[in-house]
Amino acid sequence: MLRSKNNKVMRILVSRVKWPTFTFAANEGASHRFPFPGFRIGLFERAHDEGADGCAGALGAVAQAVVEGFRDIDGGSDGHDMIMARMTSLGPGRRLRRSGRRYDRCLELEMARVLDGAAIAAQIKQEVAEEVRLLGAQGIRPGLAAVLVGHVPASEIYVRSKVQTCADLGIYSDLITPPDTVTTEEMFDLVTSLNDRDDVDGILIQLPLPAQVDTKRLLDAVLPAKDVDGFHPINAGRLMAGRPALEPCTPAGVIEILKRSGIPIAGQHAVVVGRSDIVGKPAAMLLLHQNATVTICHSKTRDLGAITRQADILVAAIGRAGFITEEMVKPGATVIDVGMNRITDRTEFDQLFAGNAKREAAFLKRGSVVVGDVHPKAFEVAGAYTPVPGGVGPLTIAMLMANTVRAAKMRRGL
Ligand code: NDP
Repeated sequence: MLRSKNNKVMRILVSRVKWPTFTFAANEGASHRFPFPGFRIGLFERAHDEGADGCAGALGAVAQAVVEGFRDIDGGSDGHDMIMARMTSLGPGRRLRRSGRRYDRCLELEMARVLDGAAIAAQIKQEVAEEVRLLGAQGIRPGLAAVLVGHVPASEIYVRSKVQTCADLGIYSDLITPPDTVTTEEMFDLVTSLNDRDDVDGILIQLPLPAQVDTKRLLDAVLPAKDVDGFHPINAGRLMAGRPALEPCTPAGVIEILKRSGIPIAGQHAVVVGRSDIVGKPAAMLLLHQNATVTICHSKTRDLGAITRQADILVAAIGRAGFITEEMVKPGATVIDVGMNRITDRTEFDQLFAGNAKREAAFLKRGSVVVGDVHPKAFEVAGAYTPVPGGVGPLTIAMLMANTVRAAKMRRGL
C-alpha cells in the first residue's frame, strides 16, 4: 500500500510503464477509480545519487517490482507525497521499506498532486454563505452590482455565473446591462449612481468594454470601498503598501489554493510569468507578502526557462496556450496555471493533447477546448499543479463573493 501524507491509502495498478515516467491508475478506497493524469508518478534522481547508471538500474528494478509483482509497496512520505525507496531493497516483487530518512542512494517516486480548485472554491463559498447568514442576523445583506455591456458571449457566461453564485450564497445582486453603444459618460453616470446606492457593497464591471468606452477612467471612478475586483489604483497602492485592501480576485485565489493545500510559501522562490495589473503584478505582491522570494518575468525576460526552472512555485499568467513546457519546470515544483485559452485549431490541439481520449472527445464535440498556459506534459514534472479547467478559475468567483462580503463589513466598520 502507498500511504500519502494525509494517510490516504492508494492501491497502485500499473497501466503503462514508460521511460522515465511511470503512469499509474490509482484506487482510493475500495471502489473509486481515479483516472489519469492526476496520479502520474515521475522518478527523479536525488542530488546525491551516484550517477545515471545506478539510477537507471534502480528504475528498472522498480518497474520490474511493480509490473511483475503488483505487490503492495510500503512507502514513507515527506511533505510532498514522496515515497522514499531504498535501492538495496528493490527487486522483482520485493517490498519497498517505509523510510523517512535519506539513503546514500535512493529514489523518489513523486506523485504530482492535483490542486483541486473547485473543491477549495466550494469550501470558501460555504464560509462566505455562513458570514452572509451572520450578517443577515444583524439586518445586513451584502449586495453586488454587476455591469455587463453588450453581448460578449464569454462575458455573459462569467456574469451569469457570478449572479447565480450570489443567489446561492444569499448575496443580493443587481445585473445591469447597458447596450454596446453605451458611451463613457453614460457609464460614468451609472458607476456614480452605484457608488451612491446603499444596497450595493460591490461593483463589478465585466471586461472587456467596447472600444469607445474609456475603461481606465471607469475603473478609476468606482469607489475604492466598493471595488470588489481590486482594480482601483487606491487598492493596488494599499496592496503594495501592505495595508488592508480589496485584493484582485484571481491572485487572491492563487494564495488561497496554496495555503489551503498546505504548500509552504515563506522562503520559497516564486516565479510569476506575466506582469498584468490584474494577475501577474498583484500575484507577485501577494506572494511577497507571504514571504516568498519573488521573481517577475514578462515578454522581454531573457532566458525565461533558466528562471522558471528555479521556481519552487511557478505561476503562469501569460495568455498563451501550453507556453510553459516541461523543460521549464523544476522537478517537484508547484505549478499554478492561471491561463485560460480556448483553442480551436486541430494542429495546436494535437501538440497539446495527442493521445488524450477525454480531451479529444470534448474537442470533437465542441470544436474547442480550454487550455492553460502550461503544457500538459509539464505537469508530469511538477510536484503539484492546478489543472485547467478546475484549478484557479473557480477561485476567481469565490474570491469575488468573499470580497463583496468583506466590502459590506468594511463599509460598516465591522
Ligand atoms: P495579459 O495579456 O494582460 O498579460 C500577459 C502577460 O504575459 C504580460 O505581462 C506579458 O508580458 C506576458 N507574456 C506574454 N508573452 C510572453 C512571453 N513570450 N514570455 C514571457 N511573458 C510573456 O494577460 P492577463 O494577465 O490578463 O491574463 C493571463 C492569463 O490568465 C490569460 O490566459 C487569461 O485568460 C487568464 N486569466 C484567468 C483568470 C481566471 O479566472 N482563471 C482571470 C484572469 C486572467 P509583457 O507585459 O511584457 O507584454
